[in-house]
Amino acid sequence: MKIFNVKEIFKSIQGEGFNSGKHAVFIRFSGCNLWNGNKENMKLAKCNFCDTDFVGTNGLNGGQFSTSNLVKKVDDVWNKSFSMQSKFVVLTGGEPMLQVDSNLVEGLKEKGFLVALETNGSINFDFNIDWVCVSPKHLSSWIVKKGDELKVIYPQLNFDLNKLKKLDFKFFFLQPMDGSKKQINIWNTINYCKSHKPWFPSFQIHKTLDIN
Ligand code: SF4
Repeated sequence: MKIFNVKEIFKSIQGEGFNSGKHAVFIRFSGCNLWNGNKENMKLAKCNFCDTDFVGTNGLNGGQFSTSNLVKKVDDVWNKSFSMQSKFVVLTGGEPMLQVDSNLVEGLKEKGFLVALETNGSINFDFNIDWVCVSPKHLSSWIVKKGDELKVIYPQLNFDLNKLKKLDFKFFFLQPMDGSKKQINIWNTINYCKSHKPWFPSFQIHKTLDIN
């Protein structure tokens, strides 16, 4: 039986990218293929600017789930607080595509959820997900080069944004890198987007508003 390792499951507001402002249940899957989550070796990792704790299963509603139990838990978390909006779930991590399969996506859809994915794009998949957001990392391999939304954390020196904007995505977002240079990165992101269509800035408003 397939078992999913999940760090946390929570209802919040999508704070970044195209779906900003939408109510969503987030499933944060444990583990990532580009960093092991150990801060001591972060500088050597293929992704070295992570701002997420995806290690273990000890977060809110975290644990090990079968497919049916995970679908039920997501539905329960959505139903616990009233929302006028239609059901929306975001598969995130860590790297969700280390674990997500078509059975889980279909199970969530059968419960009436629109299913969105946030992936680093390094793992291919061949089943249908309603909304695919790819956020590639310039030091790692990148396979999934089409989807709904390309979200590039900025700056990443190995990326040529003029080339990336020709890829098969509907929307192109630049999101300032968090960390010690955050303020500079915000200014540079805004300035770049002002003069380079179709890039549009994405800000992590859930952090600014201190929403979990
Ligand atoms: S790919 Fe995403 S989850 Fe993995 S280390 Fe990078 S930012 Fe964190």
